[in-house]
Amino acid sequence: MQKFLNAVTMSAAALVLLSGNALAGSNTQPAEMARFDGDVVVRVQPRGDADLRLMEQLSDDPWTCGTSASGAMDYRISRQQLATLTLHGVPFSVLIEDVQALLDADLAERNQPFENRAYFDNYADYTGVSNYVNTLVATYPGFVTRISLGNSVENREIFAMRVTSPVPPIGGVRKPVVVLNSLQHAREWITVTSNLFMTTELLSKYNIDAAAKAILDEYELVIIPISNPDGYNHTWTNNRLWRKNRRVTGTNTRGIDLNRNWSVGWGLSSGSSGSLSSDTYRGPSPLSEPETQALSNYMLGVPKVVAHIDIHSYSQLILRVWGHKYEDPNGLASINRIGNAMRNSILAATGANYTFGGSEILYLASGTAPDWVFGTLGAFSVTAELRDTGTNGFVLPTSFIIPTGNDVLAMVKTMIQKLCRADFTKDNIVDDSDFVAFAASYETLTTNTGDLTGDGITDDSDFVVFANAYSQLVCP
Ligand SMILES: [Zn+2]
Repeated sequence: MQKFLNAVTMSAAALVLLSGNALAGSNTQPAEMARFDGDVVVRVQPRGDADLRLMEQLSDDPWTCGTSASGAMDYRISRQQLATLTLHGVPFSVLIEDVQALLDADLAERNQPFENRAYFDNYADYTGVSNYVNTLVATYPGFVTRISLGNSVENREIFAMRVTSPVPPIGGVRKPVVVLNSLQHAREWITVTSNLFMTTELLSKYNIDAAAKAILDEYELVIIPISNPDGYNHTWTNNRLWRKNRRVTGTNTRGIDLNRNWSVGWGLSSGSSGSLSSDTYRGPSPLSEPETQALSNYMLGVPKVVAHIDIHSYSQLILRVWGHKYEDPNGLASINRIGNAMRNSILAATGANYTFGGSEILYLASGTAPDWVFGTLGAFSVTAELRDTGTNGFVLPTSFIIPTGNDVLAMVKTMIQKLCRADFTKDNIVDDSDFVAFAASYETLTTNTGDLTGDGITDDSDFVVFANAYSQLVCP
């Protein structure tokens, strides 16, 4: 009977969404949701590799997305496994006492039938998000274009938006592109609403906020709200805590961790798993999945991607490359300048305390999107882990939607404002050394190394942009 009631309330959730604006046509099929009775989430402070291996044996559900800035790792485990943990003397604290109670409370809260509930008052399912994208296209003609990047394993469209102002690009071809993708991991719902909230804010403030106007005049944002459509659908219909895509990998195993499937650093046993049942299963080969293929092919086809954020939750972190090795990336000074500014701007805007992760990162994640973007395209790229710090984990109450959306708005605005693309040598000054680098690219014309306008070639239009940056000397 309880399970039947759950199915009924799930249906009510779909109805609430339908009553909101722009959310007609939800096709969510209520099903029996997976239950997690008695499970807890613990934050473990591993004393070394032995503790990490023990945790891998105990839990098939790590809640830490990848690398961890503090060295702590979160896991969902049963009460029995909790006892084993205690027996082994592994240092831990309990973050969430009762996972199922959290899920029940969240569902009850989301099902409250508020009249005139606005879009950002609640989460929306795949169809609801798709409809909202259509609403933005209709509300901001000339600013928003809906595009399709491909289809998922179960043939759902991976839709996206190109967002920019009608101000034409310098050189007339295309503006430099900033890619912002969310929800590679299906249960990280707050990443979808935050990405859409940020987009909506930039569009709605274009005429009153000089910073929003400058961003949309000079750049094109490519917004991919749901990078993992099948997984997202599954979290609405079957298992709120599903992470991977929905590839059939064996009789009883499903799913590949899309953020371990990218080709740069793919296949390392430190930071991904070769086990089909693992939540960090990397897949049979690099970029084996249609979802990672769709995103990577799109980015390869764009003349110039200049920045990228892969948006995850939770932990309140901004993680720089590399994820798969401890080596410093080229241009670390520039990366640190931008990353620290992003972190500080969030604190100033919303009071949320994010950590920008660098050398203190202890655990590796291999085959991630930011490593691919930085390693393949040379663009600035970070992983953002949104709210919270563990009290609710992936199951954030709807009251977090707007505050967390404002975190993403601050980090995106600041990242773009701080890019300083004429600083080719990445030393945070635009000086003679950059002119040498620019001139070398300019002579070849066809390379896009010195392409500051984003049209794919280095030509006279780039020289004008470079000359302006050169006069400013110090990066913002
Ligand atoms: Zn994640």
